[in-house]
Amino acid sequence: GTTNKQSYLDELNDIQRQAVTAIEGPVMVIAGPGSGKTRVLTYRIAHLIESGVIPWEILILTFTNKAAREMKERISKVVGEKAQRVWAGTFHSIFARMLRKDAHRIGYPNDFTIYDTDDTNSVLSEIIKQMSLDRKQYNIAAIRSRISMAKSNLITPKAYALNEDLMSYDSMNRRPMIHIIYQKYVNKCLRSGAMDFDDLLLQMFRLLYQNPDNVLERYRKSFQHVMVDEFQDTNYLQYQIIKLLVHYPGSKENVCIVGDDAQSIYSFRGATIENILQFENDFPDVRTFKLEQNYRSTHHIVQAANQVISFNEKQIKKEIWTDKDEGEKIKVVKCMTDNEEGRRVSDGIIEQKNRYNLSNSEISILYRTNAQSRVFEEHLRRQNIPYKIYGGLSFYQRKEIKDMIAYLRLSVNEKDNEALKRVINYPKRGIGKTTVDKLAEFADEHEISMYEAIPQIKLTGRANKLMSDFLLLIQSFRAKAQSMNAYELANHVYKQSGIMMLLKGDDSMEGAGRMENVTALLDGINEFINDDEIPEGEEAVVDKSIATYLQSIALITDFDKEEESEDFVTLMSAHAAKGLEFKSVFVVGMEENLFPSFMSMSDPKQIDEERRLFYVAITRAEQYLTLSYANSRYQYGNMRFNDPSRFLEEISAENVDSAMPTHNNEHSHEGFGTPKLLGNFKKLSPKTEAMLAIDPSTFKPSPNHTIKEGMKVMHLKFGEGVVKAIDGERDNKVASIHFSQLDSPERRIMLRFAKLQIL
Ligand code: ATP
Ligand code: MG
Repeated sequence: GTTNKQSYLDELNDIQRQAVTAIEGPVMVIAGPGSGKTRVLTYRIAHLIESGVIPWEILILTFTNKAAREMKERISKVVGEKAQRVWAGTFHSIFARMLRKDAHRIGYPNDFTIYDTDDTNSVLSEIIKQMSLDRKQYNIAAIRSRISMAKSNLITPKAYALNEDLMSYDSMNRRPMIHIIYQKYVNKCLRSGAMDFDDLLLQMFRLLYQNPDNVLERYRKSFQHVMVDEFQDTNYLQYQIIKLLVHYPGSKENVCIVGDDAQSIYSFRGATIENILQFENDFPDVRTFKLEQNYRSTHHIVQAANQVISFNEKQIKKEIWTDKDEGEKIKVVKCMTDNEEGRRVSDGIIEQKNRYNLSNSEISILYRTNAQSRVFEEHLRRQNIPYKIYGGLSFYQRKEIKDMIAYLRLSVNEKDNEALKRVINYPKRGIGKTTVDKLAEFADEHEISMYEAIPQIKLTGRANKLMSDFLLLIQSFRAKAQSMNAYELANHVYKQSGIMMLLKGDDSMEGAGRMENVTALLDGINEFINDDEIPEGEEAVVDKSIATYLQSIALITDFDKEEESEDFVTLMSAHAAKGLEFKSVFVVGMEENLFPSFMSMSDPKQIDEERRLFYVAITRAEQYLTLSYANSRYQYGNMRFNDPSRFLEEISAENVDSAMPTHNNEHSHEGFGTPKLLGNFKKLSPKTEAMLAIDPSTFKPSPNHTIKEGMKVMHLKFGEGVVKAIDGERDNKVASIHFSQLDSPERRIMLRFAKLQIL
């Protein structure tokens, strides 16, 4: 109705309204974060429907299905139920739906299967076997990524074989047969009636391209309006499909794209800013709208974002401004260790909830790599703050972590049937499911554990041999558990179980992620055995055996079984946060080698991409932005001392909290964002700088029984201090030490594990 129409157009500024009502011809909005691009698309659809366009003649491609759902909800507030009939979703989900109708035209059944990465791996490994190629040479993940690259660039196996650049690249990498594997892979998928994720795009393109009269013509007619959100992250193939649909003689070219080149964060997936430039070329009549007002964030946050992105040279020029309040300054929180970072972030969340009356769902923690979630999860659980990992599993639910834990559990308790079932054939050692079932049955009948059943059960010679090999492996772990500490044991298990080899062989993004997770687990165990501090309000962990470690994990993960809360803090990678917004955002791990990632350190182009990612992260915040970093953290088995991230220095001191008022907080002794946390790192006192730079190689710990009251000592992580008191007996002695340079100077250190040097 007219009243609706009036009111929804009133919810837009002038330029947004122009973009929303410009419903004919090509339209482009390239504008900064929070300026209402997604809102423009949403209201545009509402406006189209209000103007008489039939809902299913509108196609809108979004970054996530969740975004599409939320748009539809908003649209239905204006136009009612018919909003549900709009074609809205991700490229992959929309194309899968379209292929279900017409895949038979390009040789696939309409009810084709969608292969995930595991399926693809298994097909590829079959081919490699059949071709008798060397498995190490022909690394599955490498082949997969080559094939994916070829598909995303519309390169067929034949074209691949004729392309000199591709072929010489493969020869150089001693994998000259990739084009043949590619061809065989395509054939096999086709014969199985299966498409992988890349096929959903590629076959969609083929379907349209090879069926101009029926299919393409039909969709051209039916999609009167095509829109794309987050256009900066579309790849070549995606853009070619959009072009097929809207770029042809006689087309009305009703296409609207919105995006922000400064938020382009998927160049590794082949997304290129080229598409934005190409769009202007392909549609010379395009009307471009510039949105410059940011409606999301307060002044300090917008300022910081502008400053950070200005360090990237290549970008389409645009400023964002806000008429919102100054708001709170950005807090930068310096922590001594990653564990402390976890504690202070969860303390900070409690404090913000109390102070600003926030609910959990208004708060988000963003990190560079998923493996960083562990420490935050542990502290949130301790504080009973419900949380969810957006689009992923919590750390201890991840497969590779569960596998490792299962081996460790067996090393402590060989009768643990669940752990045994999990890893008896992982990594694959040829023990089939029927064998395992028989073993379970036998164990049940004789009322013994499966482990005990292995030497007793009579199976075929081969099965018996395989299982007794497994038995020997676990026996060797159990023996090691007697002499090794928890960290050494975990490392030993990681290597000897074959898990390390398996993960190392997979150099895809997901494979790298799995390896990072296991490394984070090992680092956590290392920290567990080395940690000498007893945090405020907690008990000392005196026994650092693997059994104690496993118990602490079990207690933490037990939380998973509790009732799911509706109101939870969201944890996710910065990548996943694109397009979202939260009242309060914590961007954690702001250190060199972490954010920016160590993989990008030597390439200025990649540093720019990391900076865009940081830009995306900080512009998610509406009111409160907290950036934290740890002076030291266990990384890849060693304690590392990373410098604070260069991105922190790119924010001007006036937008950063350098002198927070002190206040009492029942949960945190030290409060949050205390005066020492300076925004401008160059202002740190020389003494503090020196303390931050303790070199572990020159640090010589003293025997702990020599530490006495009144002594001046140096602590590996906390710097100089004075021993105030020593309590407890023998192995349980605790030193209370005053570290004058810490925000909360009083720390309790367990002498048995202490890293102290007498000065
Ligand atoms: P991003 O680049 O991060 O995806 P965006 O440009 O898509 O950001 P939106 O998410 O559409 O920005 O808008 C940011 C916030 O500002 C949303 O909460 C939106 O509802 C609000 N907003 C946008 N335009 C207006 C307006 N004219 N009046 C009031 N609020 C607005
Ligand atoms: Mg958006």
